[in-house]
Amino acid sequence: MQPGVCPNSFKQLRACLVCGLIKTTQQFVENGCENCEKYVHLSGDRERVLDCTTPRYQGVILLNDSNHSWVGKYLFLEGKYRGVYAIKASGILPPEVLGDLEARGVTPHCLNAS
Ligand SMILES: [Zn+2]
Repeated sequence: MQPGVCPNSFKQLRACLVCGLIKTTQQFVENGCENCEKYVHLSGDRERVLDCTTPRYQGVILLNDSNHSWVGKYLFLEGKYRGVYAIKASGILPPEVLGDLEARGVTPHCLNAS
């Protein structure tokens, strides 16, 4: 089972635009996104965190065991860290991140570009 990560505050929560993981801005700056750091490189870069995460999201699920959860399967979260996830997130990823994801065959699961 994957280790877990949870928001440590209910203020300034943001969702990763690639996987939907919800944490505080500060947590993203300190640790990046546990699932997507290799694509988004958030750690230590506040500007980047603001570009690749969003405060606008709908629906929240608590993912406990991503390999045995039908919600996890439905949201393409198999193998992801345990934590709190947005069902839908609204925002626009920077073009270079989108290009990198496309090249790797990764689809941002919860992204709603509207
Ligand atoms: Zn992520």
